[in-house]
Amino acid sequence: MKVLPDPRPVRTQPRGECPVCNQWRALTSAGHLGRHNGMTLSGFSTGQICPGKGMPPYVAPGA
Ligand SMILES: [Zn+2]
Repeated sequence: MKVLPDPRPVRTQPRGECPVCNQWRALTSAGHLGRHNGMTLSGFSTGQICPGKGMPPYVAPGA
C-alpha cells in the first residue's frame, strides 16, 4: 500500500505568552511576540497595539 504524502503539511505556529497583557500570542520567525492588541485587566481589548510587540515571550519561572 502506498502512503500518500500529506497534501497540506501542518506548520506549527510557535506561540508565547505576552509579558505585558498575559495573552498567548503567535510569535514571529525571530521568536518575538507579533503585533497584537493590548488587553485591559478586565479582559477587554484596548484597541491599541500592545507594547509587548517585539518582546521575547514570557517564560514562567521553573518552566
Ligand atoms: Zn501583549
